[in-house]
Amino acid sequence: MQRIIKFDDENIAEITKAIAELQDLRLRNIVILELKKYFSVKELVCNHTYDKWKEQSWQFLDTNFLHCLLIIRRDILKSGMVCNTKSATQRGLRCNMCEMVKQKTKNYLSSHIFGKAGDFTVSGMTAEEARQKIKENAHLLPCNIRLEKDVTWLHFDVLPQYDVTDKVYFFKG
Ligand SMILES: [Zn+2]
Ligand SMILES: [Zn+2]
Repeated sequence: MQRIIKFDDENIAEITKAIAELQDLRLRNIVILELKKYFSVKELVCNHTYDKWKEQSWQFLDTNFLHCLLIIRRDILKSGMVCNTKSATQRGLRCNMCEMVKQKTKNYLSSHIFGKAGDFTVSGMTAEEARQKIKENAHLLPCNIRLEKDVTWLHFDVLPQYDVTDKVYFFKG
C-alpha cells in the first residue's frame, strides 16, 4: 500500500505523525521513490560508483541522509539543489577511487564515504541562507543533522557525532 503524504507548515503534530507513518510504510523505499522526482542517483554518488552499480547505487546511501535530503529539498528549501555535475564531482558519496580519497595519506573518515553526506548548490539562495532556513525548520527533520559552517556550498550530513545532541549542529570542516 502506498500513500502520498503531503507536508505543510501548518501542523507540526501532523508532520510528526506523518513521519512515523512513513516509517511504517517502509520508509526507505518511499523516500527513494519520492526523491526520484528531484534527483537521479547519478547525481548523488561518484562516477566510479554509478558506472559500476547504476540504479543500485541507491543502496550505498544512508536512509537518514536520503530522508533529510527529501525534507530539505521538498519541504524546507523548496528550491533546486545540485550535487554532482559534469564539472563538479565528488560532492556526494565518495569511494576509494575518488581522487580526494586516493590522495589522503592519513586516515579519512568523512561522512561522504559512508553515504551520509552531500554538498549542494541551491538555486536562488546562498549556502548561508540555505543553512539558516534549515535551522529555522529543524523541527521538520527526521533526525539530527550537521551543517558545515563558513563554506560557499551547502554541506549537510547525518553523522551521529559523538556527544552532540543538537538537532542542527554547525561544524568547522
Ligand atoms: Zn569514487
Ligand atoms: Zn561535504
